[in-house]
Amino acid sequence: MNIRGKNLVAGKLENGKTGKPFQATNPRNGEKLDPDFHEATPDIINRAINKGLEAFKILRQTSPQKRADFLETLAAEVELRAESIIRRAQDETALGESRLKMEFERTIAQPRVFAGLIREGSWIDAKIDRADPTRKPFKRPSMRSILQPIGPIAVFGASNFPLAISVVGTDTICAFAAGCPVIVKAHPAHPGTCELTAEAVIAALQKHGLPSGCFSLLQGASKKTGQAIVQHPDLSAVAFTGSLMGGRAIMDAAAARKKPIPVFAEMGSLNPVFLLPEALKKRSKDIATGFLNSLTMGVGQFCTNPGVLVALDSPELDDFLKHLSDGIGRIQPRTMLHSGIFQNYNSILKIFCQTQGVRIHTRSGITSNPARIEADTLVLETDYTTWCMREELRQECFGPASIVVRIKNLEELLSFARNMEGSLTATIHGTHDDLEKYKSLLQALETHAGRLVYNGFPTGVEIGYATHHSGPYPAASSAYHTSIGIDSIYRFVRPVCYQNCPDEQLPPELQDKNPKGILRKIDGEMTKCEI
Ligand code: NAP
Repeated sequence: MNIRGKNLVAGKLENGKTGKPFQATNPRNGEKLDPDFHEATPDIINRAINKGLEAFKILRQTSPQKRADFLETLAAEVELRAESIIRRAQDETALGESRLKMEFERTIAQPRVFAGLIREGSWIDAKIDRADPTRKPFKRPSMRSILQPIGPIAVFGASNFPLAISVVGTDTICAFAAGCPVIVKAHPAHPGTCELTAEAVIAALQKHGLPSGCFSLLQGASKKTGQAIVQHPDLSAVAFTGSLMGGRAIMDAAAARKKPIPVFAEMGSLNPVFLLPEALKKRSKDIATGFLNSLTMGVGQFCTNPGVLVALDSPELDDFLKHLSDGIGRIQPRTMLHSGIFQNYNSILKIFCQTQGVRIHTRSGITSNPARIEADTLVLETDYTTWCMREELRQECFGPASIVVRIKNLEELLSFARNMEGSLTATIHGTHDDLEKYKSLLQALETHAGRLVYNGFPTGVEIGYATHHSGPYPAASSAYHTSIGIDSIYRFVRPVCYQNCPDEQLPPELQDKNPKGILRKIDGEMTKCEI
């Protein structure tokens, strides 16, 4: 495992002048990990993005077949480096080997999924409105449109997914699939994992003769690096996963540019879980077991972690909480991702605990070790009036803690749903009768969440065609776009319409004969037929 700690600009190690050095830290023991990493200077950032723009001219013209082959090679190159990547990620994140192996499988599945998508080709959304020279009073022109890649994309990965939302995570893979070069801002908590994975990208680009400028990896442990990337005039869009504060700062910087660019930020949310009365009566123990598993998975460090639970004040809720307490009593404290997250978790918990009207219902019994940045698991309790009055309770507490809000009646339940902030998910546990009776709750949730989970739990996201991992602000910057799943590719393309363009000048996907054999919308009807 040879990590050099350098920035990688268009496939080359930067050996010249660099910015401030920093090191990764092993969260389990606080030890610094070799080597030193060097923050990218403005000159390095400038060259990386300039090279990206140059490469875009070539990459956007490559065939989907070539890009698909490249993505498959990329998966294979990452796979070749599995052992060293997972070992370094264990040291840098304290995520266990089995969790990282699962994440690794998802990471190498993604390039293969997107390779299949672009080979098949219909994703490009070809639309053809045929000309009508007989239309009165004006002839109707031929109008044809497809999606085209937008240009160099900056990717900011999250600390909690060092593989699947990092250097070769969904953002990078779907940008490549669409035909966009990528400039990755390495997360300062796992810079070595980033470098090892970046080498796989460089090797795959070389194998397919694609321009090296298609990819650069920039290191940095201060806001300066990220800010300079976002402000570069040749950048076309940003994909970000992380904190609301970081995401918002990047959105503001992108909007303040002379030429504003879109930022697709996924920033986490409260992910409320609603327990309806009949379901609680019938399944309180099972729900408690599932809830605890969801709350503590990955030490609660998931953007879909269930941060609040809402249920009618009842003996059944007490029964549920008793089962939950029994389970929490057996939880061992576990190390968090980095000291910043640990401090943030504890300071938000302190605010919750000191809020009048909030009490700790259960806290994991075994004493945690702050030197190992270990997190306690906590369930707090409050009533709906306190919840409404105390804004500080309605912030994400990234870690294994959740607040139970006891509500008195249906009006309070509906009021909760109607007034909640945008969320990635909302979960409902209900029987058939519950769901019929509480239809208005479901309707309220549709306007506030990106994914409604029935009789399940919000953690764990499938990568599919229907996946929508987003939600109204502050969960995401654009509720329409997803950061996970097949449709995440649509963040990095835009429609281009060709009016009265001669057939031979059109992209193949729009030509009369349909040489790619893709599904197209012709005069409003989906068909693979030629014209
Ligand atoms: P983060 O602090 O938002 O950092 C994510 C990336 O953005 C890093 O590369 C960071 O680099 C950069 N960045 C942050 N603020 C910036 C700014 N103002 N300007 C330019 N670049 C900036 O996220 P994190 O380290 O993963 O976790 C911290 C908190 O984020 C957690 O406590 C949790 O609340 C939340 N979180 C949410 C999710 C989610 O999935 N939504 C995932 C992880 C964490 P620098 O540090 O070098 O600036």
